[in-house]
Amino acid sequence: MYNYIFGPVASRRFGLSLGIDLSPDQKACNFDCLYCELKSAKTVDYIENPPKVEDVVAEVQKALVEYPDVDVITITANGEPTLYPDLDALVDALNRLKGEKKLLILSNASRIADTELQKTLCKIDIVKLSLDCATPACFKKIDRPLKSIDIEQIIGGLETFRKVCDKTLVLEILVVAGINDKQEEMEALREALDRIEPDRVDLGTIDRPPAYPVQGVSTERLAELSRYLGNHNISIMHKEKPQHRVDFTPEEIVATIARRPQSSSDVAYLFSDKARANLDALIKEGKIKMENIAGVTFYTLAQKD
Ligand code: SF4
Repeated sequence: MYNYIFGPVASRRFGLSLGIDLSPDQKACNFDCLYCELKSAKTVDYIENPPKVEDVVAEVQKALVEYPDVDVITITANGEPTLYPDLDALVDALNRLKGEKKLLILSNASRIADTELQKTLCKIDIVKLSLDCATPACFKKIDRPLKSIDIEQIIGGLETFRKVCDKTLVLEILVVAGINDKQEEMEALREALDRIEPDRVDLGTIDRPPAYPVQGVSTERLAELSRYLGNHNISIMHKEKPQHRVDFTPEEIVATIARRPQSSSDVAYLFSDKARANLDALIKEGKIKMENIAGVTFYTLAQKD
């Protein structure tokens, strides 16, 4: 029985994950996102009764003995983990015990402009941060943050963090029907992504009951929206089975990948057997290469470097 540990949980994008919950008593978040899987709650900028670092670490040690095959130790919370007051000490302790496993944090990015927090996050192997909108109106509507939190400050903080830290930076965009599923919102996000240059962008939508009565969009719509996000490593969440797979020719594959690197999940979703054979041939010819970014394989043009 654990108080601060959940899992292990198999994640398509990170492997087998052991989660750490830094706010076990109640939701503690400075956002109140429409799509949150937790019940809506008053926004706060602190965690009440945070667990002690040594108690969390003791449970992680015990869990790693019980589940030795986990790939990542994920720092998260019943809310926002960067509100945890002893995050820096916890990260140091987890780094001492994790061995070959990766340390991952899932955060809403609200505090990323804080240079002390940037130093702490830069001790973590994979930093996954949310960025649902890049315009103030959309950000306020979807993430419902504390009044003092400003989206331009977050984007500036992400840009600085990327420059000062060479750890893997993954951004997550969660699409909500009628709010950020619009060309102009994606184009604003593209400008932000061009500034930040993350290693990977996870593009997803609602797949669990949300805190408020909002809806997600189809996989097809996610794929359409991804076209406005530019030439970044975008990992689309494919929640439905494909309607039809396409017989891409080698030229079409090169042109598609030149527009945007394709993930292994894109290929599984969209490529017919014939197209896969063409892709394999392009890899053998050295025209396309495979890159693993925090557990997701991307196909990219070999001459891009
Ligand atoms: S940031 Fe995460 S925990 Fe906080 S309200 Fe949004 S989805 Fe929920």
